[in-house]
Amino acid sequence: MRTAIIGGGIAGLAAAYELEQARRAGKKVAYTLYESRDRLGGSLSSEVVDGAVLERGPDSFLTEKPAAAELCRELGLGAELTPSNDADRKTYIVVRNRLVPLPDGLMFLIPTKLIPTALTRLFSLPTKIRMGLELLYPPQPSDQDESVAALVERHFGREAVDRLADPLLSGIFGGDSAQLSARTVLPRLVEMENEYGSLTLGMLAAHRKMRAYAKKSVQKGQSGGSRSIFTALRGGMNQLVVALATRLDPASVRLSTPVSGMEQVPGGWKIVAGGKTEVYDAVIMASPAWAAGELLVQIDPQLAEELRGISYSSSITVNLIYDENQLGRLPDGFGFLVPVVEGRSMLACTFVHRKFLGRTPPGKAVLRAFLGGMKNEALMAAPDAELLATVRRELSEILGKKILPPDAQPLHTQVTRWPRAMAQYAVGHQERMARINSRVAALPGLKLAGNAYDGIGIPDCIRLGRKAAKELIANQQIS
Ligand SMILES: Cc1cc2nc3c(=O)[nH]c(=O)nc-3n(C[C@H](O)[C@H](O)[C@H](O)COP(=O)(O)OP(=O)(O)OC[C@H]3O[C@@H](n4cnc5c(N)ncnc54)[C@H](O)[C@@H]3O)c2cc1C
Repeated sequence: MRTAIIGGGIAGLAAAYELEQARRAGKKVAYTLYESRDRLGGSLSSEVVDGAVLERGPDSFLTEKPAAAELCRELGLGAELTPSNDADRKTYIVVRNRLVPLPDGLMFLIPTKLIPTALTRLFSLPTKIRMGLELLYPPQPSDQDESVAALVERHFGREAVDRLADPLLSGIFGGDSAQLSARTVLPRLVEMENEYGSLTLGMLAAHRKMRAYAKKSVQKGQSGGSRSIFTALRGGMNQLVVALATRLDPASVRLSTPVSGMEQVPGGWKIVAGGKTEVYDAVIMASPAWAAGELLVQIDPQLAEELRGISYSSSITVNLIYDENQLGRLPDGFGFLVPVVEGRSMLACTFVHRKFLGRTPPGKAVLRAFLGGMKNEALMAAPDAELLATVRRELSEILGKKILPPDAQPLHTQVTRWPRAMAQYAVGHQERMARINSRVAALPGLKLAGNAYDGIGIPDCIRLGRKAAKELIANQQIS
């Protein structure tokens, strides 16, 4: 019995790997992975230049979500897992051209430590007073899904949105806090609002629980609470793509072969790709939701519309390698986020050589800038030279000319555009997913996987890809 997988990003690769494991275990499983590009990995793409790992897309994954590290270990990459250098973790927000550190004790956008919050230069006095009053006079919880911006503004005011929620979310999701769904993106905050009224009170309680848990784990001799926030692969995320690709049956992988048509036929699915039509028992759609929607228009117009209704943001990454002696001393920490209200093209910058040690040769510094996002799609059309000039100018203005002289020439530059790559979980996403899931359930042998549905990061995409394949195997649509 045969399965088509549409899309060779991390979700499609994880699905193919799961099917390959079943095939090797003696199950009668065959699969074909169709990928429109000439390479596998989708948004995962890295290379090593002069000994420095340059990530075009994701540089790491969240350690607390186990699916990615588990898969790496299964693939023999356990020794390559590299923790983020959390001892030096410090992130800044640009406020009127100056770098202001995020206050210590921030959890899910909410400050949990009184003194750092009282002393921070991030918020004005009225915002700090409002944060204090929120403990005593929390607003009424909303009975409907609302945007992250609306939730944060109700509790802490507009400045907290502009200087905290918006830059953090555009840095993580390339998203707009005024559109992202609070229930989907920050479910813990919504739960806390319902339980405690005050988000600060909820966060303080969560903080206490975490400390007690960490203490207990230490007493039991476990390494409680000491895990790094992010995990990367020493040689770059491409190591994961290569390890997965080498496990697959080469005859089952078709690169540069976009699926251009799809039809439901009795007992299966017809797939049109690369000028050929083939029939499969099942299909895992691991392309972006908008691409899946286009293929499903004739099969289920309502499902197609729901999928195409999931909006995506585009982004640009710019990597710059410098000789450290060209630069002054960078501020301590991992980098900075730029609020939209600062009116800049850059959304964020990572000091790559600080975030993960051992991936940049001594004496070199790698700065990685992000641009684009929901509010700046027009940048996607700008030529590389213009983007590079913008990034170098803005970096010099934000870091200061002593740290980055405007004429400092990078040793290497790399610009990568990611059109419509990051799904945005807009207000009402969960209701949309309930409608999508019920329509998909009515189409036997059809599964969806990828970043549009139940988690944007690499671990969730891996989890969904593997789950789709496992369900097909378990349902004996593949026997
Ligand atoms: C710049 C950037 C930075 C990021 N940083 C992080 C990070 O640090 N940590 C993290 O966890 N996540 C990060 N993410 C998010 C994460 O990388 C993505 O959500 C995830 O990789 C998406 O995987 P996917 O398989 O769902 O989709 P994709 O990677 O988009 O793969 C889908 C594939 O489908 C193919 N395709 C589309 N249409 C067709 C068709 N008709 N036929 C055949 N193939 C088709 C595409 O070519 C593509 O290869 C980042 C994303 C970007 C863009």
